[in-house]
Amino acid sequence: MRISMVSEHASPLAALGGVDAGGQNVHVAELSLALARRGHDVTVYTRRDDPALPDRVRTDPRLEVVHVTAGPVRTVPKDLLLPYMGELAEGIVEDWGQEPPDIVHGHFWMSGLAALDAARQSRAEGRPVQVIQTFHALGTVKRRHQGAEDTSPSERLVLEAMVGRSADRVVATCSDEVFELKAMGVPGGRVSIAPCGVDVDLFTPHGPAEDRARAHRIVSVGRLVPRKGMDLVIRAMRALADLGRVDVELHIVGGAGSSTALEDDPEAQRLRALAVDLGVADRVVLRGQVSRAEMPAVLRSADAVVCAPWYEPFGIVPLEAMACGVPVVAAAVGGLVDTVVHGSTGLHVPPRDPAAIAAAISDIVGEPAWARELGDTGYRRVKARYSWSRIAADTEKAYQAALTDAAPAGPATARRSAARRLESTGGRAL
Ligand code: UDP
Repeated sequence: MRISMVSEHASPLAALGGVDAGGQNVHVAELSLALARRGHDVTVYTRRDDPALPDRVRTDPRLEVVHVTAGPVRTVPKDLLLPYMGELAEGIVEDWGQEPPDIVHGHFWMSGLAALDAARQSRAEGRPVQVIQTFHALGTVKRRHQGAEDTSPSERLVLEAMVGRSADRVVATCSDEVFELKAMGVPGGRVSIAPCGVDVDLFTPHGPAEDRARAHRIVSVGRLVPRKGMDLVIRAMRALADLGRVDVELHIVGGAGSSTALEDDPEAQRLRALAVDLGVADRVVLRGQVSRAEMPAVLRSADAVVCAPWYEPFGIVPLEAMACGVPVVAAAVGGLVDTVVHGSTGLHVPPRDPAAIAAAISDIVGEPAWARELGDTGYRRVKARYSWSRIAADTEKAYQAALTDAAPAGPATARRSAARRLESTGGRAL
């Protein structure tokens, strides 16, 4: 199949850990590569945010990233990108020329708008393209949790529901999202589930682990935004000290790329001040951004990885921790309910509950043999369910379903034969 991915703000080539660079970048990069390795031709369209970027970057024989000029050629917060989606669609259609792909897959609601727009233009020229949508995060959920702090454009809720209802198929990443999509009016019959995955060759239990300064270490990884709940983990450090455990250090990973930039990051400053206030600053380390290559050694150094978000559309970090054989303490929200199995691969805690986080950490560091069991089971779960090759196969099924559904509708001989081609190869592209 020929597949176009649209990821307006989240380039697969970007460094991770900044305010707008996290799971979606990883998802688009890894899914695209896994699909390319299954024999599909994949092009990722993302917004040009730096004049130095080349027009096209080939990262694999079957995978190319195309930078489309849409809006100012500099970093723009994602919540300000809506006005440029028309331009992005134009750039995509221009690149397709006479040969549009079989599938255009939008990532995030704004990319969905550009994908639908591009497909509409192509259909109008008699060249059909099926539109698949993955939201990664939903405005309804964000609004519920962030209220007035939500900086999304006011049109988001209406446009997002429109994208969900107009796409030929929506790929949800977890069961929680399926319920939300239903509430938005997306017909259940057009929703597939394909979770996010993890690079099981990079994230493994075997390999170097960083040294610790104390007997035990907890690691939390995420963009430094309030909803990731890093402050709750710092509060848990205080609660742990009150339980008599001062032999645990907390490493918080994410945020600006360098320690000087971290000094200018208001969220980093807020977290640091909180640690000082609570008297735990001597054992809370703000690491800033850590590269992909270094991340496994950081995760392996932990007794447990703590994920304490207020809400979490999916959450790739727990998978990375489990792939490294490390137990996860996770707030029981969103995708974390599916990925972490309570008492088996880690522990669930109620959201926004530092005392519960502290109790869970205390249980895990107090029972190393049990902690090892949790880590081993997590590793096996990830290997069995969350490799990107498996996720790509699930996603391919959603593509196939869209092509098959479209086949009887019109003069879609090409679509029909693409669907048949896939059926006859058991889902593998020729
Ligand atoms: N990440 C990273 N370096 C950092 C911070 C984060 O490589 O300094 C990666 C992390 O390992 C994970 C992704 O960014 O792969 C975050 O994904 P997740 O789904 O957990 O959160 P999101 O950012 O999508 O909310």
